[in-house]
Amino acid sequence: MLDPHTLEPVTEKSFEALFPRELVRQQFSEERWFDIPEEVWDAYRRLPRPTPLVRARRLEERLRTPAKIFYKAEQFSPVGSMKPNTALAQAYYAKKQGLDLAVSETGAGQWGSALAMSCALFGLKARIYMVRVSAMQKPGRKIMMQTYGAEVLESPSKNTKTGRKLLAEDPEHPGSLGIAISEAIEDTLANEGSKYLLASAFNYALAHQTVIGLETQKEFELLDLEPDVMCGCIGGGSNFSGFIFPFVREKLRGKSDAEFVACEPSAVPSTTRGKFTYDYADTAEHTPLVKMYTVGHQFANPPIHAGGLRFHGKAPSLSLLIHRGVVRSVAFGQTKVFEAAKIFAETEGVVTAPESAHGLRYAIDEAIRCRKSGEKKVIVFNNCGHGLLDLSAYDEFNRGKLIDWEPAEFSVPEYVKGR
Ligand SMILES: *Cc1c(COP(=O)(O)O)cnc(C)c1O
Repeated sequence: MLDPHTLEPVTEKSFEALFPRELVRQQFSEERWFDIPEEVWDAYRRLPRPTPLVRARRLEERLRTPAKIFYKAEQFSPVGSMKPNTALAQAYYAKKQGLDLAVSETGAGQWGSALAMSCALFGLKARIYMVRVSAMQKPGRKIMMQTYGAEVLESPSKNTKTGRKLLAEDPEHPGSLGIAISEAIEDTLANEGSKYLLASAFNYALAHQTVIGLETQKEFELLDLEPDVMCGCIGGGSNFSGFIFPFVREKLRGKSDAEFVACEPSAVPSTTRGKFTYDYADTAEHTPLVKMYTVGHQFANPPIHAGGLRFHGKAPSLSLLIHRGVVRSVAFGQTKVFEAAKIFAETEGVVTAPESAHGLRYAIDEAIRCRKSGEKKVIVFNNCGHGLLDLSAYDEFNRGKLIDWEPAEFSVPEYVKGR
């Protein structure tokens, strides 16, 4: 990561004002392994962990495929997604450092609710800036966070200079994720004893999510099988990276032939139509420049239901693997994605998250290709969340009202030439 003014690499020290110390250490560390602290394991067991690796036999029958389809069931956590895998670790390290307040932002509310739960379990206060339109459209997520004892501020809020300025211009300002991030950062920096916890894209968030892939490895070992195809959705990239990285290690050592496929929405085509370049991680340009696949940090908020996949960039480590061809990527429109989700609900009984349904779409397409070729591939996708708080999206799909959207031509500015 580079300082946007000097273009020099940012230092570990400069991160410590904003993030808990241990997380900064993990971010910059070149160690290959971090032990999971016993306290975090104790919290993981409640999610529960390990999560099951499920064979989707009814789905296979419906598709009349000789392929075996599995999914890693991350939807069982109390908040309905994989996000507690990192939220619990982050809350634990913050508490251990003696901090008393965690600050963050949330759009659709998946991260906010995971963080609120994790802070409650570790006895930490949480303050969450929630994009105002999302709070109005998804009151359920806001109520959930408040039930865990978190303070939820609709953003823009009166609590920060950024928020007050915007509210003065427009008292009904709908907010945006970029604004909520700016408010959370401003608030954190103004408060001794508080730190900023973040959902995805950073190395440590990906590292914490590798618990998914490590379990999947053991589960396949018990079945005496090896996956041929692993797929999943990418927003910031944390759930998919966590799922595949332990297998990527084996592949880079020549011990696995698995194929890795990252699935993104055609509405935010970071890896399929974007650029691998240095860009800001936030709209307001508070962050360092990060080398990643991006559609550009000024990319307008895309009108899709998979709120977790709206981020303009993708995690640097995953981006590099895609750039080098170790991981392939594809994009889907949301109608095709919800078609897959409906088939999954009818055959397996799981109403999956609009996000995870992107990985599911690829799994189904691959299984159909196997029907034609007769190949008996082992396909596995990461079912990273349930869709029980996204039912209005299913409602639109069921009524035939869901529409696809793709950006026209767009350009991504280059801040650092030739690097
Ligand atoms: C947040 C979220 C995502 C997107 O984040 P990644 O970092 O790409 O994993 C995907 N699915 C669900 C269910 C989420 O909550």
